[in-house]
Amino acid sequence: MNIIDSKKIWLSSPHMGGTEQKFVKEAFDTNWVAPLGPNVNGFEKDIQAYLHKNVHVAALSSGTASLHLGLKLLGVTVGDEVLCQSMTFAASANPIVYLGAKPVFIDSERSTWNICPKQLEIAIKDKISKGKKPKAIIAVHLYGMPYNIEAIHQISEKYKIPILEDSAEALGSSYQGIKCGTFGDIAILSFNGNKIITTSGGGALVSKKQEHKEKAIFWATQSRDQAPHYEHSEVGYNYRMSNIIAGIGRGQMEVLEDHVNKRRSNFEFYKKNLQGFLEINFLEEPIGYVSNRWLTCIETTSYELREKIRLSLAEENIESRPLWKPMHQQAVFADCDAYLNGVSDDLFDRGLCLPSGSNLEEEDLHRIVSVIKNVLR
Ligand SMILES: *Cc1c(COP(=O)(O)O)cnc(C)c1O
Repeated sequence: MNIIDSKKIWLSSPHMGGTEQKFVKEAFDTNWVAPLGPNVNGFEKDIQAYLHKNVHVAALSSGTASLHLGLKLLGVTVGDEVLCQSMTFAASANPIVYLGAKPVFIDSERSTWNICPKQLEIAIKDKISKGKKPKAIIAVHLYGMPYNIEAIHQISEKYKIPILEDSAEALGSSYQGIKCGTFGDIAILSFNGNKIITTSGGGALVSKKQEHKEKAIFWATQSRDQAPHYEHSEVGYNYRMSNIIAGIGRGQMEVLEDHVNKRRSNFEFYKKNLQGFLEINFLEEPIGYVSNRWLTCIETTSYELREKIRLSLAEENIESRPLWKPMHQQAVFADCDAYLNGVSDDLFDRGLCLPSGSNLEEEDLHRIVSVIKNVLR
């Protein structure tokens, strides 16, 4: 096929359900064009109802803003150290630096590609022995696969270090029937353009404590104290979600389950068509884990083969991407401590994310698979 006449296939593109504009129109019609209003409240309620009856949700301007306020709620401040999964998007780690604290990176385990319990405990013991107990743990459900909830939370409880659960990629995933986004002392979600549902840009902070929600909203709306005039006793942020954006979110919540099912069926399609090739491996769900399969990722047998597949797809106008480059390899974090076992370096070398949108068509999937098969034959 020729790149000029073949349709571009994206890694993960926005997929509107149909009712989003109805909610946005309502916002216009009632003149709720502001960072508050019925859509913001309604979106928060929808997410709460979806996740768990006992959680409280604050809709914010992004997942990154939610991480920033989440760490602040956990008391992270200047000079602290925060343990953070190394294999993730930079947005997991950047807010640590916003607060004047320092990230300490933890490598991944093979079975989930997420934060390794062994390395985590080694890091905690080492830091405590040096007189510097870490202030928080950021654990990520990468590509929608839940992290090792049981082991990581056991360590958190043993050492009394709270968890900030980065569920940006895992809305719709679950562990033992319990939804991701409800495990951490605080959790965050993202509704960026490439996520499983999108508001074009946006995020949410989730907590079992009502006070967390209230404080997050207080900070997110410039920390205005009770007074007829503008009175401030704390530094504030402009992080609240707009009522227009939240309208998109309400529409998207209606199709979330469909998106999860479609992304999971993309994974099944790739697996069915490619599992006969020994050069390709898929990350399976351990027992009790359900991934939303936000992105289907493959592990190839070498860096060279991964690149050959990636470049062949690009030639056919198909977007694919290597797995997240671990934070301990990033120049911006070169001076941070890291507790490593080689897993994330290896995955970064050999792993590839395949197009995984919920709007992919059957013929798109066939096109992608046929390019990969041609490389392998
Ligand atoms: C997308 C993402 C974020 C950041 O969310 P934004 O809404 O884009 O700010 C954080 N962590 C992970 C793992 C992500 O994938």
